[in-house]
Amino acid sequence: MSVGIKGDDIMDYSPAVKKILAKEKIEVGNRLSVEKGGKISEGVLMPNTGDPNVLVVKLDNGYNVGLTPEGIKIKKLAQPKRVLPKKMKYERDESKKTILILHTGGTIASRIDYETGAVNTSITPEDLIASVPELAAIANIRAEIVFQMFSEDLEPDHWMLLAKKIAQDYERYDGIIVTHGTDTIHYTSAALSFMLQNIPKPVILVGSQRSSDRGSSDAAMNLLCAAQFIVNSNFAGVAVCMHANMDDDYCYVHSGLHVRKMHTSRRDSFRSIDVMPIAKVSTSGTVEMSEYKKPSGEFKPLIAFEKKVALVKVHPGFNHRELESYGKIGYRGIVLEGTGLGHAPINAVDKLTKHHALLLSVIKKMTKKGIIAMTSQCLYGKVGMNVYSTGRVLQEAGVIPVQMTPEAAFVKLGWVLGQTKNLEVAKNLMVENIMGEQIERIDPKAFLF
Ligand code: ASP
Repeated sequence: MSVGIKGDDIMDYSPAVKKILAKEKIEVGNRLSVEKGGKISEGVLMPNTGDPNVLVVKLDNGYNVGLTPEGIKIKKLAQPKRVLPKKMKYERDESKKTILILHTGGTIASRIDYETGAVNTSITPEDLIASVPELAAIANIRAEIVFQMFSEDLEPDHWMLLAKKIAQDYERYDGIIVTHGTDTIHYTSAALSFMLQNIPKPVILVGSQRSSDRGSSDAAMNLLCAAQFIVNSNFAGVAVCMHANMDDDYCYVHSGLHVRKMHTSRRDSFRSIDVMPIAKVSTSGTVEMSEYKKPSGEFKPLIAFEKKVALVKVHPGFNHRELESYGKIGYRGIVLEGTGLGHAPINAVDKLTKHHALLLSVIKKMTKKGIIAMTSQCLYGKVGMNVYSTGRVLQEAGVIPVQMTPEAAFVKLGWVLGQTKNLEVAKNLMVENIMGEQIERIDPKAFLF
């Protein structure tokens, strides 16, 4: 599967740019060095997707730069051979634990397509393991492909298939690593947390921000930390393991229910929200656990999800029709990302806000047939719907405050409505703190930690 710039999206460069390229016999996909303003960079020529007079080069660090032709010197460089890592044969070592790696795709399972400069999900589990041979020193590794896709394309049905696969196989392994795209890894980790309650083994999701074939890739370190965590801790449950900082010194393991991608591209983009990470792990195997109590309950695979659930952001000018339209197409649950402590514009205070009364009546109508849960778009801090009259009125209208990230709340609501058709039972489950998803005590140290 390929993303990026292909087919109809490719436009011609301007004649001026084409002339410079033709002189050096450089085509899209070729490696080149570019000198401009005394600065030399190397990378791959990308197709033009915007201004035809701007040369787009994907640098080796993964970033694209746009360069105008004035004062530019370019040189064609040798094209790197696609050297696939050697396939490795592993002897089973009885003294070591065994980890199953389940691949779902994403950047961690990708490499650059040197023809287009875009990133493809095309690495097999064997390639990935062979490119991180240190894994074999930590544990016996088995690997399987479950999906081969970018995580923005994953559906709740994929979460259920993955949960079923884990529920079926977990007993044979000491732990499972799920390699996954980073964009929606926190949705999948929340879904697995609800679907695989009290799983007695560690299920650690790992992604990477740079594809595995780049020098700057964070894939190897995230994988090694996850494997070390499985081998050297008593953790059981679902968590996400990613770089903790911009240096390659350690990773954090985040609870699958309280983690979020907070930056589009940094390797340390994952943060625990309102709680401290579960552990700090190094590739050499040091594990520093924060307060952690292993769950003792019975393993309950509860694999179901109601897809008619939406995550809706409240904003100034929010119109009741935005919400009403979900009711009209049969949605049974809405998670609102409210403003501040959990608010929505329901107060008709002047001519301009008269329509706010309509939002309140739509909410009242929708909470009779389904569930509206309230989170905060602040992400950090309590959802406090008893502080202002707005929150109180929303609660009287049937809105349920929940103390979770909007994404975890969305997953919980879909999961809850997948468990029962009985609205009262579902409402009670939304309020209940089933898996520690509702943060009861916010750790002040966790803010922007
Ligand atoms: N879009 C990619 C994905 O989520 C990004 C990544 O893997 O980091 O699959």
